[in-house]
Amino acid sequence: MEDILVKGTIEGVRIYALCTTQLVQELNVIHACSPLAIAALGRAASGALLMAATMKNDERITLRFSGDGPLGEVVADAKGNCVRGYVDNPEVCLPVKKGKLDVGGGIGAGNIIVTRYLTNAEPFNGYCELVNGEIAADLTNYLYKSEQIPSSVALGVLVGSDGEVKAAGGYFIQAMPDSDDSVLAQLENTIITLPYVTELLEAGNTPEEIIARIGQGLKVHINEKIPVKLQCTCTREKVKDMLAALPTKDLQEIGQDEIIEVNCHFCNKSYKFKNTEL
Ligand SMILES: [Zn+2]
Repeated sequence: MEDILVKGTIEGVRIYALCTTQLVQELNVIHACSPLAIAALGRAASGALLMAATMKNDERITLRFSGDGPLGEVVADAKGNCVRGYVDNPEVCLPVKKGKLDVGGGIGAGNIIVTRYLTNAEPFNGYCELVNGEIAADLTNYLYKSEQIPSSVALGVLVGSDGEVKAAGGYFIQAMPDSDDSVLAQLENTIITLPYVTELLEAGNTPEEIIARIGQGLKVHINEKIPVKLQCTCTREKVKDMLAALPTKDLQEIGQDEIIEVNCHFCNKSYKFKNTEL
């Protein structure tokens, strides 16, 4: 199944669903993730794409799950249909909890920090305490508490015994100002009875079919289908500018090596500079 985000509405309620299996597997390879780390990072990346889809195409959103667990910080950054991300400690494993990867234990207690980079305004920062570190519940709670947007977010990553990502994606429903409470209640009830989003995807349900299942018995409208992908925004020029902005003292120190190598956190790409260049 291709990586795609589908935007729809169900009788005035916003519903977006997406499949990210391929791009999450790419993240898995780039960062050499443990199953636990890619479950956390893949959920965060899928969540960032869903949130970016509610913004303008040239606006950007960064989600930081900053807890005291062994994974360290999990960061996902999305703009339009592109996402990138990293986890501080991608090698960390924890024992399976109730048959599932213990993402909440990996992230621990702390905060979710959200930054929206808007086109015609200063960046907007919001934060909220993590509910359980499982990402989807943290995003649902953040949207409600910090941005007063009643939502229900579901995210999942299924990792095979070979360590490869077998299915990844998610969906959210979001109340709009004119949403009918009875429609919302009906959708909430349907979601409770649905299998996990990874089970739906693994069974071959496309995001469009997932939306149709959630909206069964109601009027479902599909508005847009957008391919989504993994893409970093780093360039040699940007890395050079960043180095040039360092204090002279730091520059002199790193300039003692003939070749200076800088790795991008997000995509692991390595940039090499001669010290004379700096
Ligand atoms: Zn990069």
